[in-house]
Amino acid sequence: MQTDSANRKGATLRICEIYPSIQGEGLLSGTASTFVRTSGCNLRCWFCDTPFASWKPEGDYQSVDQIVEQVLGLEPKHVVLTGGEPMIFPAVTQLAEAIRSAGLHLTIETAGTIWHPLQCDLWSISPKLAGSAPTHSQAWKKAHDQRRERIDVVQQMMQQPYQLKFVVNDSSEAAQVLEYLQMLDHFDPARVLLMPQGTTVEQLDQQAKWLVPWCDQHQLTYCPRSHIYWFGNRRGT
Ligand code: SF4
Repeated sequence: MQTDSANRKGATLRICEIYPSIQGEGLLSGTASTFVRTSGCNLRCWFCDTPFASWKPEGDYQSVDQIVEQVLGLEPKHVVLTGGEPMIFPAVTQLAEAIRSAGLHLTIETAGTIWHPLQCDLWSISPKLAGSAPTHSQAWKKAHDQRRERIDVVQQMMQQPYQLKFVVNDSSEAAQVLEYLQMLDHFDPARVLLMPQGTTVEQLDQQAKWLVPWCDQHQLTYCPRSHIYWFGNRRGT
């Protein structure tokens, strides 16, 4: 019978980058965190701000032990497993187990379209709305449309601590968030966060003018993209 360590050596994920920074979005905004960015995604959003982990994935496959060793060499006690889409790798189960067994807090950032049985401390679920589909690739538009909405997967994740993060471009997309929420059995409004689409401070400030009062009106939570205010739209931050 294989040991846990032997199992982990055989389990790999494609890794784009691992770096320490500060969580800039959501309920844990401001928390020092190590970001483990997997490479590859089953969706292709037109606004993807990490094309090096979706449209043109970079990086090599690494074993769970190799990844955990790098994480333990950095200071933060919070780990954010992000992408791309980390859930495309079955080995995410072993990686989550190893990170939590090391006493670290684990957040998984996901679009909520693929499930593997695992426990994490915060599911950060960012369901993609219809308007996120790419327009310049018919093949990817079709795949995106077919894959982006998996209420069953999202509700499975919501059995554990979660936040739902929606990126919205305009008020019609914000209205689609309300329609989406109606499909869920239950949700906590304090854990439903709306973020403006935008990659510059100017764009985000402009969007905030309508989105902040809209969130107040619907008793949902406005979520600033603080990392853009702190660092700009720069890789590795
Ligand atoms: S789901 Fe996330 S990583 Fe994948 S294409 Fe969309 S924004 Fe990019």
